[in-house]
Amino acid sequence: MGLITVKNLELGYGGKAVLKDLNFEIDEQDFICVVGPNGAGKTTLVRGILGLIAPMEGEINFEGVRRNHIGYISQENMINPNFPASVFEVVLSGSLNEPRNFYDSTIKKHAEEKLKLLKIGDLKDSSFAELSGGQRQKVLLARALMATKKLLILDEPSNNLDQESKESLYDFIKVLNIKQKIAIIMITHDLDHGNLIGNKILSLRDKDYFFGTTEDFVRKVHHE
Ligand code: ADP
Repeated sequence: MGLITVKNLELGYGGKAVLKDLNFEIDEQDFICVVGPNGAGKTTLVRGILGLIAPMEGEINFEGVRRNHIGYISQENMINPNFPASVFEVVLSGSLNEPRNFYDSTIKKHAEEKLKLLKIGDLKDSSFAELSGGQRQKVLLARALMATKKLLILDEPSNNLDQESKESLYDFIKVLNIKQKIAIIMITHDLDHGNLIGNKILSLRDKDYFFGTTEDFVRKVHHE
């Protein structure tokens, strides 16, 4: 089933388009990597999907997911690493539409499940500030999962991580995609290294957009 359909979308700032005539669909359980050079509009697209900027043209239709039920990890990690919060508090804060000072037992149970799923249950009472980069990303993934059962959007989640933490994070993202049946949109630079994951690619390079299967993308790149 389709989650989101993007039709003839134009997005930009101050009347100036960054992305033009963009078309693609996100289906249930897709794992779409969004690639393209700096400034291509990858983050702008994410802002458009999340409703932080309005389309200049075209449309984004939400069919199988509600816009406010999308889990999101931004590139600029919005949680100040010096903020004195425990891992559990950071994860709990991902539950939308709930009073911030009071979390009922159902929400606490959900948060514990997410920690277990990402195998970081033992970090529950640790200070977020004292974690490694890889552990922080897992906590933020658990936090994003509080908001969604259907779609996660990850903006360069492996930025600044060493190779081992990066691979471990990708393994968890794949598990969420396959076992929990959560669709993933991931902005990444890692494709340059032959590290292809996901079933589909959206390439925003040179306004010559490509949207299709990862296999077709590899074939296209090899023929260029
Ligand atoms: P990417 O994520 O692919 O690196 P961005 O979506 O961040 O690209 O940026 C695409 C273009 O939009 C760039 O030229 C950038 O300067 C411009 N841009 C990004 N954010 C804003 C903004 N808030 N106001 C005006 N221009 C912006």
